[in-house]
Amino acid sequence: MSEDYLKNLNEAQIRAVQHAPDIPLQILAGPGSGKTRVLTCRIAHLIQHHGISPENICAVTFTNKAASEMRERLDLLVGKQRTSSLKMGTFHAICATFLRRYAGYAGIESNFSVCGADESKKIIKKLLEPHQKSLISQNLILKDESVLSAISKAKAKGKAADDLLAECSPSRSRRADSGDSLKSQHAVSLDQLVANIYQEYEMALRKSNSLDFDDLLIFGVKLFAENRWIGSWCKHILVDEFQDTNTMQYQFMRHVARANKCVTIVGDPDQSIYGWRSAEVENLTKMQIGEILWTNYRTEDSACQDFPRTQQIFLEQNYRSTGSILALSLAIISQGGPLFENIVAASPDESAPDRTRIQKTLRTTQSNWAAPVLRKFPTEQIEAASIAAEIKRLIAFTGGMLAWSDFVVLLRFTAHSRLIESSLQRAGIPNRVLGGQRFFERQEVKDILAYLQLIDNPQFAPAFTRAINVPSRGIGDKTVSHLLSAAETMRISPLEVANRIYNGTLPDIRPSVKRKLASFVPHIDRLTQLALQGTSPVILIRNLLELIDYKAHLGKTQQDWENRWDNIQELVNFARETESQEDLEAQIGTLGDAGPIEVDDFNDDYINVDSFREIGGRGKEKASTPGLTATRTTPLRRFLQASLLSTDTETEADERRRGKVTISTCHAAKGLEWPVVMIPGVEKGIFPSHRAEDIYEERRLLYVACTRAQGLLYLSHTNTRMVSGKTLGSELSEFVWPVISNNPVAFNNHPPDIMHSDRAFLAQLLSRKAPEEAEVTRMVTEYNREHPPSLENYSHITSRGTHDWQELPTAHVPDVPQVLPG
Ligand code: ATP
Ligand code: MG
Repeated sequence: MSEDYLKNLNEAQIRAVQHAPDIPLQILAGPGSGKTRVLTCRIAHLIQHHGISPENICAVTFTNKAASEMRERLDLLVGKQRTSSLKMGTFHAICATFLRRYAGYAGIESNFSVCGADESKKIIKKLLEPHQKSLISQNLILKDESVLSAISKAKAKGKAADDLLAECSPSRSRRADSGDSLKSQHAVSLDQLVANIYQEYEMALRKSNSLDFDDLLIFGVKLFAENRWIGSWCKHILVDEFQDTNTMQYQFMRHVARANKCVTIVGDPDQSIYGWRSAEVENLTKMQIGEILWTNYRTEDSACQDFPRTQQIFLEQNYRSTGSILALSLAIISQGGPLFENIVAASPDESAPDRTRIQKTLRTTQSNWAAPVLRKFPTEQIEAASIAAEIKRLIAFTGGMLAWSDFVVLLRFTAHSRLIESSLQRAGIPNRVLGGQRFFERQEVKDILAYLQLIDNPQFAPAFTRAINVPSRGIGDKTVSHLLSAAETMRISPLEVANRIYNGTLPDIRPSVKRKLASFVPHIDRLTQLALQGTSPVILIRNLLELIDYKAHLGKTQQDWENRWDNIQELVNFARETESQEDLEAQIGTLGDAGPIEVDDFNDDYINVDSFREIGGRGKEKASTPGLTATRTTPLRRFLQASLLSTDTETEADERRRGKVTISTCHAAKGLEWPVVMIPGVEKGIFPSHRAEDIYEERRLLYVACTRAQGLLYLSHTNTRMVSGKTLGSELSEFVWPVISNNPVAFNNHPPDIMHSDRAFLAQLLSRKAPEEAEVTRMVTEYNREHPPSLENYSHITSRGTHDWQELPTAHVPDVPQVLPG
């Protein structure tokens, strides 16, 4: 069998691909060094060379999009037929799919709903309400988001509510606040309250037959830990972006890999940017490194010997970026160190150096080409306008070799996207937002999903509460509360209570409720019947829209109803896509029920899965209970799962995405690359964020953002910026100014001219055809006609690295060469 996948790999990459499958491997390297490419080729190698069946391979990616890209590449390398049975997806998607299939073994129902962050917040808010009065009287504030975040953090570490309660038990707390200050007493009582709410929250989720995102991992780990035969299919597990795994994800990997201990992980500690979401870069050392000791990251914990003999391979060649972009990025991550070795040594950054950071070598064969651009603008409006202008200029001056989709604007905060979006729109530039509000979090999409969730799982109270008043039926909050508490007392679902009131088998709670339910209960009945007949989600949605006349409801209640209606149509498109997709569930269908198999044992010293048993309801003993079988999922359930676990922000077909400039958060850009990257707001309070807890993580975030760029990188900052409605003065980010003062050549102060030779360079860098010069002339002439040049518009950096700017006359700031260069 040919090993084409080894073509176009360097020596270290080939070594990593061919590394013995049974020796755990860590591939550690900087951005753009081909880690993801190597991981993909290694899967091909395991299949082609070692004859491992694709259904025995589990590949974990950070986003669903990354999984589908990897699958596309593998289709080319080993053929679509063979890759269709690979188990590939995010940790959450893989867990959710196994949980559906083997729900009984995890002590849950197979029609569990996935409770999204919004719904979780609503549950917490309700639980917190009775305590607010007493909190206010003590001058204490406890926000629902903070409680949810504390619970989520605990869950990511595998801590149950009982663990939190034990942590704030009186004996412990006495020790904790030996000073006995009022403040620490409050802290203890707040902790206790959070722990209590955690407990009630869990109960609410279970009553609703639902799992939140953290639960998917907790119950996934529990499933594999208690039923080892379920994991015995796995002959090799591979994890991309390993530096951002949390404790539960690591546990999942450990349990899935326990039979064969064949593991490949790739990661880059310099790109760990999810510490705020409980990711633990230390997971790298938990694997117990055998060959190369990575001392800085070794923990004290000698019990961490999950994968003895783990070996490491480093990749040092960057294939993504030009030399100047890479040099600047490395200077940022090494805290203002010298850009190039021949530049006089830098004085270190004033802030304390990140001592845990490993110095890694990263080289590129690409030439230095255009230095990254650093510009300063008077205001954020002018900054946004200049981004739009520069995108247009570059497209013209590259004769259309660069297209809209080659540009990304990377932001620290989603809130900043509004200005950029409207500026691009004003300039007529098509754009899309990645990592902003997720498509499936939009109100109108959630309205429709709530109905479908309710049909699938009538116990799911959040869906009931939402659907019952969309469109408005005049059923007030109090009535809904009555319905919910009646359901609890009678131990039936809220939907069943509504049913009985409507049918007259339960007395009307208050006059007219029965009448109001006439436009709800029969619709749900109709849809449930359709769902039971196996009707496709597309037809279900169409029926639903008609039954509740959703378009008219949008028209009456929303100004931008047309956009919202488009989103609903997009949801229908998505439903159609999921119908035709081969998904994880289908792949898991090939597993069969192998039955219990004895496999290697090891200590379960990380989480106490027993502590979740109470909540889960069933324990180990159930695993061997006769009558437990694997369940097949319905089309509706598969659609709901795909939408609720989607990590994508939109569902547009790829062809339509291609023609747009991307606006993204830095976080969501992880693992991706673009020819031109623009990062506005490189200022104190933004990079690092004023809310940041870990300054090093903020630095790594800027590093991740810069290293997305292949050819051109633009950073900018402003003189003033509006923060919470006030215009404040802003200063250049402390991550950048030491780089400037140490390396005067680090930045260009204005965008590069694009000459003939530049176009040739770009064409080679991006493996594209250089444009015809006649086309360049045509586009530039047109551009110059539309954008008369104005030389005063340069923002300016002095040679000493200090900044200056001239007041700009208009909001339009093109840096336009007056004559056609080249
Ligand atoms: P990140 O850390 O940002 O996730 P990465 O290490 O995963 O980056 P890849 O995305 O795999 O890097 O590769 C970066 C770019 O380099 C891709 O465009 C990839 O196709 C290209 N590339 C990787 N290896 C080679 C090679 N040997 N020859 C040519 N191009 C390569
Ligand atoms: Mg990658």
